[in-house]
Amino acid sequence: MTTPSFGTFFLPGPTEVRPEILAAMTRPMMSHRSAEFESVYANCDTGLRRVFRTARPVFISSSSATGLMEAAVRNAPAGPILSLVNGAFSERFADIARACGRTVTSLEVPYGEIVPLETVEHALRAKRFAAVTAAHSETSTGASQDIQAIAELAHANGAFSMIDSVSGMGGIPVETDAWALDFVLTGSQKALALPPGLAMCCASDRYLASATDAPARGRYFDIAEFAEYAAKHQTPNTPAVSLFYALEAQMAAIGPTGIECRWARHAAMASATHAWVEHQRAGGRVDGILAPAGARSATVTVVKVGAGVDTRALLAEVQTRGYTVGSGYGKLGATTFRVGHMGDHTVETVTRVLDVVGEVLAGR
Ligand SMILES: *Cc1c(COP(=O)(O)O)cnc(C)c1O
Repeated sequence: MTTPSFGTFFLPGPTEVRPEILAAMTRPMMSHRSAEFESVYANCDTGLRRVFRTARPVFISSSSATGLMEAAVRNAPAGPILSLVNGAFSERFADIARACGRTVTSLEVPYGEIVPLETVEHALRAKRFAAVTAAHSETSTGASQDIQAIAELAHANGAFSMIDSVSGMGGIPVETDAWALDFVLTGSQKALALPPGLAMCCASDRYLASATDAPARGRYFDIAEFAEYAAKHQTPNTPAVSLFYALEAQMAAIGPTGIECRWARHAAMASATHAWVEHQRAGGRVDGILAPAGARSATVTVVKVGAGVDTRALLAEVQTRGYTVGSGYGKLGATTFRVGHMGDHTVETVTRVLDVVGEVLAGR
């Protein structure tokens, strides 16, 4: 069997990495305190500001994205936290806040749904919160929330907004400055189509000012220290240098004007996937999309299967045909599968894998 060099791997993270990006990582090591590294860092920062749509520095952490979820909480002002929980990752944000000693109020809705804005507003009016946590694109369910509106509600009620856009950033519009997000974070291995291991975040002025006073913010995820080093185009400790090479190459590929094309491409991949699911549903081969219309992420689709379908066997058969599709996450494992249509994929590569899944569903 001949496998195309790109276009076979459709997990909603890690996503497929182009060969050129993988090749960039074979560059030899350099000192992370050298001018040479500062130039790599500067190129990464410039590119990330375009992706985040900010004039502020974007901090780059050599950790998985969960590390920066913890950073968001540790550096936030003292006080209780309001967590919007509509899936496994937004639940993780709430868990992290509890583990960091915060009092957490969870606004939970069934997996697949989004938290109604009226519910958020009501909770924020009833009690003073230091911060609100929310997932932009809930990768376990494929639901996407209006983070602009959530951030506005938080501000109007004196709380900071802390947004997990791990599977949103680089695929769905995020306007860090225009929406006045206080803390927004992402990871390298989702819509940015890089290998896992880096996480990036941007913090507002007022968040940074309060971080400097946060009494027990620890050391590895001290955002005030990240800011200090970012000003010199460095990181507080030894960064994952090879991953910075990959990030630099990807930022160059996106270029000064590429982000809007990227958003449009993701919207097109999502439409193609939704149309495919509708076709399969009409044919009685699947039950439909978990997230309701109007609240679907453009980067990942969670497909509900019928009672008679063995998702594990389905994905194994797709695998033997040379393609990888994601299993359902956690408690949705038996009843759903996930198509990650994000990163450097195109309508063409997504259509190809969906054709294969369709063939397997039809028993061909
Ligand atoms: C993948 C993901 C995370 C966790 O990222 P890690 O890099 O595995 O720590 C958090 N939130 C969302 C929405 C994700 O998709």
